[in-house]
Amino acid sequence: MTVIGVAPIQGKVAEAAPTSMKPQILEALLDKINDFLLGFGRALIEKGANVLFIPDPTASASLIAPGLFRKLVLPRLQALAQGLHTPCILHICGETSLILEAMAETGIHVLSLDQCMDLGEVRRRLPGVVLGGNVNPINSMLLGSRQQVVDNTLSCLRSAGTAKYVLMTGCGVPPHTSLQNVKAMIETAVQYGLGPD
Ligand SMILES: [Zn+2]
Repeated sequence: MTVIGVAPIQGKVAEAAPTSMKPQILEALLDKINDFLLGFGRALIEKGANVLFIPDPTASASLIAPGLFRKLVLPRLQALAQGLHTPCILHICGETSLILEAMAETGIHVLSLDQCMDLGEVRRRLPGVVLGGNVNPINSMLLGSRQQVVDNTLSCLRSAGTAKYVLMTGCGVPPHTSLQNVKAMIETAVQYGLGPD
């Protein structure tokens, strides 16, 4: 599996746009960014990428209002999902409770959640959606003991279930994370019944 990031910044633009910016100009700017991202994603696929990771950290409900997400970000993510003919993972940072249903409406194959999100609760709200997450990247992966990684991984697996679920860290694996902790996460998943057939 090749995982290569496409980095949408719709959330960032929506967050940073001056309130005086005319809505038509903002929408045109976002469309231009989306066109670039579509082209970039297609080029990655042409070069062999078979999964694209789409991080849109600042589209978080911690940073922009859910209404703004629906109006400005959702249609562009839908366009990416429809235009990139390969499995994609959407990661939006931080608190996303207020936009979970909208995230599912993007049509993106996997929704990746930060460690602040309760996987069990999200599973109840979105039973048919493939979820990803959310072993704590800092407290477990970077700073935690092997046992903390095992416990955190088991907690994710028990909350999300093994169907329609991709075990991954919340956000990413920080630089300087020990190989021991990465292996602990993977070994725990395999022992739990996940892993290559
Ligand atoms: Zn994140």
